[in-house]
Amino acid sequence: MQSRWVERDAAAIVARYGAQDVAPDVALCIYATRLIGSDSKLVLHGGGNTSVKTFTKDLLGEEVEVLCVKGSGGDMAAIEPIGLPAVRLAPLRKLRRRNSLSDEDLVRIQRASLIEPAAPNPSVETLLHAFLPHKFVNHSHASAVLSLIDQPDGALIFEDVYGGRLGIVPYIMPGFSLAKQAADIFDASPEVEGLLLLKHGIFSFSDDAREAYERMIEMVTRAEERLARNRRAVFVSAPLPNEIAPLAEVAPILRGALSPKDERTEGAWRRTILDFRGSPAILNYVNGADLMRYAHAGVVTPDHTIRTKNWPLIVPAPEAGRTAEFKHAVQKAAAGFVENYKAYFARHNARVGGTRRMLDPSPRVALVPGVGLFGLGRTKKEACIAADLAQSAIETITDAEAIGRFEPIS
Ligand SMILES: [Zn+2]
Repeated sequence: MQSRWVERDAAAIVARYGAQDVAPDVALCIYATRLIGSDSKLVLHGGGNTSVKTFTKDLLGEEVEVLCVKGSGGDMAAIEPIGLPAVRLAPLRKLRRRNSLSDEDLVRIQRASLIEPAAPNPSVETLLHAFLPHKFVNHSHASAVLSLIDQPDGALIFEDVYGGRLGIVPYIMPGFSLAKQAADIFDASPEVEGLLLLKHGIFSFSDDAREAYERMIEMVTRAEERLARNRRAVFVSAPLPNEIAPLAEVAPILRGALSPKDERTEGAWRRTILDFRGSPAILNYVNGADLMRYAHAGVVTPDHTIRTKNWPLIVPAPEAGRTAEFKHAVQKAAAGFVENYKAYFARHNARVGGTRRMLDPSPRVALVPGVGLFGLGRTKKEACIAADLAQSAIETITDAEAIGRFEPIS
């Protein structure tokens, strides 16, 4: 991976936003955010975040120290100043003295500390940015890094690749506890250039915008180099029918089985849109004899569950001339998926006192041996996003299996 930082481009962004009263350090953060956001090997569709610590005037005209941090779910590739809401730093820093803080209270405190009351919600990872002392902080879910850390011995591999240049943080769900523990780990070795969040992603930081960005690029490059060494062949193919049914027969069967009746309108169906991908790398993955194990292990980074759910729908290979059998198998698998999802939801909802509401239980990704992968959605955009994430996950899992064994969070 190459640094794409160009001094002339950075200066142009500082000048352009300067004319709109945006401070130079915030403009540099916007430049770095776009560079990271436009590389699909670093982040995809709303994942990742960045921040800069700076000073601004509040609504009363008083100067305050703030953290400008990416809004939750915002797209880094197209970030504008409004997408980096300014939050007062002093109240955020005070929170570090607490022992616990619920997600709901964290969101309320963050909103109450915004300079602009109508700004979008700051990222769920805001406190982690606030607790670190550096001016510029970047976070990504880089594929090459995930291939190394989604391993049973991910921490050991990283010691070998980075030799103490990154602090290693065990897996904790994003929120207050993660921020506090990450800051403690940083304080114990303040010379580190970034943090590695096992089964999640990577942070890089510096007081210089370019250095913070280029540290991310360098760390990801090292991960890529490690993945290129000592690879073994993966994915021995399962036995497949001699002739596979054509895509034009497979897709309508999937679409039919995955389009539920719309209960609100009599006689109507909620038609599912399919986005198909069938590259050699995808076929190699979906044809593997061990597909059930690695495809059902979990998401490469927790963020993906929002778009792909925690596991895909897997159906048998469709044999040419036997589409009736395939149709039956798809209907059975789709019904099984929904049942399984409902049970999974009920199990975990009971754990939190029944306070959660179940989302649509249908799959977001379908894997068809001999054919490829389908992203599924109510709109074309949703289907494409699910397919993009699934394709990226396949690359990440393929690399993880080539050097060890893919093991994400349970
Ligand atoms: Zn993250």
